[in-house]
Amino acid sequence: MTSNPGTPISRRTAIAGVVGAAITACTSSDSGEPAGDTVAESTTAPERTESTTTAAPTTTEAPRIDAIPSPAYAGDNPFVLGIASGDPDETSVVLWTRLVANDLALEQDVAVDVATDDTFTELVSSSLTTTTADHAHSAHVIAAALEPNSWYSYRFRVGDHTSPVGRSRTTPRPGQESPMRLGFSSCQNWESGGYAAHRHLAEADLDLFVWLGDYIYEYGPGNRGVVSSAGLREHDSPEVTDLAGYRGRYALYKSDPALQSHHAARPWAVTWDDHEIDNNHAGLTTEDGQEETAFLERRRAAHQAWWEHMPVRLDPPSGDTFRIHRSIHWGETASIHLLDGRQYRDPQPTDGDPVELGGVVVQTLGPTANDPAHTMLGTEQESWLIDAVDTSPGRWQVLGNQVYMHGLNALPGEVPTINTDSWDGYHGSRRALLEALAGTRAENLVVLTGDFHAASVGDVHTDPFDRSSPVVATEFMAPAISSTFPASLRPLAPLALAVNPQIRHFDPDNGFMTCVVDGATWTTELHILDDVTDEASGISVRASFAITNGTAGVA
Ligand code: FE
Ligand code: CA
Repeated sequence: MTSNPGTPISRRTAIAGVVGAAITACTSSDSGEPAGDTVAESTTAPERTESTTTAAPTTTEAPRIDAIPSPAYAGDNPFVLGIASGDPDETSVVLWTRLVANDLALEQDVAVDVATDDTFTELVSSSLTTTTADHAHSAHVIAAALEPNSWYSYRFRVGDHTSPVGRSRTTPRPGQESPMRLGFSSCQNWESGGYAAHRHLAEADLDLFVWLGDYIYEYGPGNRGVVSSAGLREHDSPEVTDLAGYRGRYALYKSDPALQSHHAARPWAVTWDDHEIDNNHAGLTTEDGQEETAFLERRRAAHQAWWEHMPVRLDPPSGDTFRIHRSIHWGETASIHLLDGRQYRDPQPTDGDPVELGGVVVQTLGPTANDPAHTMLGTEQESWLIDAVDTSPGRWQVLGNQVYMHGLNALPGEVPTINTDSWDGYHGSRRALLEALAGTRAENLVVLTGDFHAASVGDVHTDPFDRSSPVVATEFMAPAISSTFPASLRPLAPLALAVNPQIRHFDPDNGFMTCVVDGATWTTELHILDDVTDEASGISVRASFAITNGTAGVA
């Protein structure tokens, strides 16, 4: 079951998506009228006109057709951004697509077929759902009344067009012990490399994929010193700051065939990090010191575009905040708690002593980082997490987390030198949170992490800088799909490892991690690409790690 996202998906969507089981030819995009509100990415569509006969309201944001040059998408086929599924529970899963075409109506129906076979002869349901221009013609359909622990095929149809076939599945039923094969990663900067990792993931034998943030990067082209892979790919618009911009950015990323095939291969469980909105923001404090009201507007746009493009079991955002932290349960085997480490965060501390390291400014651990009232998750989410870990059935209690928790002292010395954007910037509240989590009924705590564009495996002490403090969790930080680790920092890794014995393995290359989880053992494999700039890159398992039920830390 997927517990308490707080806002269950709307009844209207569920009913439209599932109960109407008749197989119906869709209404379609063949009216001959140009749509009143062409989607923003469309380059070949005519200018937006008011000449449609529909009385539906027009959207308030003007399409920035000239600002968002389109690559391959927006033709006749509405499925060029692919399909996806996510947030499974024991009887249902969310099926997603976003229609992009030149002649969509403001309200556009799409049919959804679910079957037990990939030729759709064993049909489970066939239904219609309505997509609307104000949600970028995205569909979030709950395929319900499914069998637990079972795989299904699904597809969408509009007129003569049929989407690729996706595969998705339900979780084991509550009380059932059943192994879980999990993949996870984060950070897929379009400009830093190809998505060969997704191509390999699409072919892997996995039940579920956990995405830990940085699905898009908001930057303009060639920005921030990102090493572009020999002109392979560039962002196609300036830094995105409004709804049309974020929509265009998601569409660009989702135009990648390897990413699409990975989405089609299995359900995802998705959270976000900073770049879905703005680099290293914390709550309403921004990288560039943007004024709060303006940033709030930007964040609302980013939240909406994220929701429109992700296969999440959440109602669309409607206010200034958007609660996305939620849990997914894999029978008795595992409970995965997806965290939001950005929206409720106190600002990164600034009162340590600055230290320059490989061109990056870090800080010594100062009073703010030590203050238990200075939090990353916010007190409400912390309470929710402690309760969720205490009451969830999984033998393995898993945190879907953004930034590393195992700590990293960048230099030898009495006072740790830290990256304030990581949990080290929230050192005091981390200790309190870890002690509270260790005091729950959870048998095992496993932390899955992204963000750092490097892989690590670490023992999580309640105080990472005090080796006598207890190890209460094991952390696996996945390498990035494509975002690269700064070359200037690579030479510092051996020294950092010598200073941080809690970090058992470190690897600054690209790829992902996979895990096989049963009642006795959790095994993680680290997969590393030969060359992230090569879309045809091979991949190999560089290391593997095991943890045992009842024992925190890597054996
Ligand atoms: Fe990243
Ligand atoms: Ca990040």
